[in-house]
Amino acid sequence: MELPFAESYRIKMVESIRRSTRPEREKWIKEAQYNLFNLRSEQVFIDLLTDSGTGAMSDRQWAAMMTGDESYAGASSYYNMKNAIKDILGFDYFLPTHQGRAAENVLFSVLIKEDDIIPGNSHFDTTKGHIEFRRAHAIDCTIDEAADTQKELPFKGNMSIEKLEKVMAEHHEKVPFILITVTNNTAGGQPVSMECIKGVRQVADKYKKPVLIDSARFAENAYFIKTREKGHAQKTIKEIVKEMYTYADAMTMSSKKDAIVNIGGFIATRRKEWFEQASVYNIMFEGFVTYGGMSGRDMNALAVGLDEGTEFDYLETRIKQVAYLGEQLDKYGIPYQRPAGGHAIFVDAKKILHKVPREEFQAQTLGVELYLEAGIRGVEIGAILADRDPQTRENRYPELELLRLAIPRRAYTNNHMDVIAAALKNVYDRRDTITRGYKIVKEAPIMRHFTVGLEPCK
Ligand SMILES: *Cc1c(COP(=O)(O)O)cnc(C)c1O
Repeated sequence: MELPFAESYRIKMVESIRRSTRPEREKWIKEAQYNLFNLRSEQVFIDLLTDSGTGAMSDRQWAAMMTGDESYAGASSYYNMKNAIKDILGFDYFLPTHQGRAAENVLFSVLIKEDDIIPGNSHFDTTKGHIEFRRAHAIDCTIDEAADTQKELPFKGNMSIEKLEKVMAEHHEKVPFILITVTNNTAGGQPVSMECIKGVRQVADKYKKPVLIDSARFAENAYFIKTREKGHAQKTIKEIVKEMYTYADAMTMSSKKDAIVNIGGFIATRRKEWFEQASVYNIMFEGFVTYGGMSGRDMNALAVGLDEGTEFDYLETRIKQVAYLGEQLDKYGIPYQRPAGGHAIFVDAKKILHKVPREEFQAQTLGVELYLEAGIRGVEIGAILADRDPQTRENRYPELELLRLAIPRRAYTNNHMDVIAAALKNVYDRRDTITRGYKIVKEAPIMRHFTVGLEPCK
């Protein structure tokens, strides 16, 4: 008999989580004004709000924490991180930052000016924020197929080289760099192929422009290249990662994702002049160049996390868990962004709650129903997140209404995945009885999703 798949680790330390009753959850979600961000974590049984900074560190990482060097300048922990970045990613220069958006803030302070145009594949929201804050523009060149949730493609996160060519032909004078995001978070944790990365590099070379990689889930991306792209099956993850970065001039990193730490980020580059210019902003915004907002122990854990996060066995365990959840949903016919992504399942709320008007927030309604059902917390990727048009102040209604279920790294077991799938099935079975959603009663002028207050529609 073929042996079933099992996790490539065992558990040494546990954290209790608590199931609650439906009446408790009804009270709590009402107090939270039907906004899942307002819940206390003790009110949540399985927390799928994000995979950012929510992973479990290994014994090796905790051991490295103990030997963290907290010297202000030149700490050995800084050099541990520097060596890991050189060995695994191939960059000579790096700056630590407190998280990914800080890396964007520092590097973009050097590279972006007003009216610039930055083409990319679905810029992440903080990335877009840092571009637009500088009165520059992000142009999305993601392939069209990414918007069709039922279409199965191996590299659904790709940039369309055709669209990119068009943007470059028209605007290249205004383009400071091309940005590739791996994996494509916004399109559902979908990977970008090596062929696409190479293609972007060729276009960049033609116009003598640099390439940046927004790298939060670079290791998950490399796993998909190894397992899905022709010519890469025999390579190690580390070989694939090295190759990916030969096509880039610099990277920004949220270490809370694929470096499996609870806080941290960095910029890495092969351009000395960028490093020197960015150092000035790093000192202003983050801290001295050898710690940049991180403690020595966190830099040590990060160095180990980069190594563990690029091991095949770890990645296989992780990606197969996300795929496992997708397979359970398939059994019940529940629609989600296909194929399953690297870090999350994006449930297609528009297809499920088709009786709820879009003005009453379908994905949010599904999120609240799933919480009421079993104390599971996902996050809305729909009209509340899309916010209002800055000019007209009208609500923007995106093409997709998704409920994202992000899976923290090494934190939950497949039994939890079974509970999530069963809870969703129960909601799915009564979908036709859910006809009303929510209306906004409190709203911030920007980034409203974090603090929005809602009331059920009657
Ligand atoms: C999370 C993320 C960021 C921002 O990183 P933080 O550490 O949350 O500041 C940037 N880009 C992508 C693709 C991300 O997933």
